[in-house]
Amino acid sequence: MHLEEMLTFNKKFVNEKEYEKYETDSFPNKRMVVFTCMESRLVELLPKALNIQNGDVKMLKNAGAIIRKPFDSIMKSILVAVYELKAEEIIVIGHHDCGMSKTNPSHLMDEMKVKGVPESTLETIYRSGIDLHEEFHGFDTVEKSIEQSVNIIRHHPLLPVHIKVHGLVIDPGTGKVDVVSQDS
Ligand SMILES: [Zn+2]
Repeated sequence: MHLEEMLTFNKKFVNEKEYEKYETDSFPNKRMVVFTCMESRLVELLPKALNIQNGDVKMLKNAGAIIRKPFDSIMKSILVAVYELKAEEIIVIGHHDCGMSKTNPSHLMDEMKVKGVPESTLETIYRSGIDLHEEFHGFDTVEKSIEQSVNIIRHHPLLPVHIKVHGLVIDPGTGKVDVVSQDS
């Protein structure tokens, strides 16, 4: 467990006023939302590669930077960022070698059973109208997936028309980004 070492570190961090260099308010200085993958290789690399400082953006993450439904929690967060926090630009950033391009929902469900989730629970969920194959479905190419996410945001009925929505793909090794979709 790494929690104990985190808690020890935290006491020192606060006592030594390490936070002072990160002070900012909660409005994103760049008026921007970045929505990306939970990929651990990007935790530091992505902000460094795009010169994002503390306070610059609202950062949203999920597995794969995937939005497939107009009212999923990421989309709600984007709307809050736009209406309450002055965000005016949204960038969706996928990455090469993403785990969600390899995720196999059947394997995931087999693993659930191996780790003790009863078959009957999976059946109950299925009968409630939740298709776990669909829920855990990843993507074939990251570029197409980012375009799908960008399109859902761009055409969202509650998003003001002046909001810019872009799509990028980042290399998790070098930090190099390529533009998939750019709003003019
Ligand atoms: Zn990923």
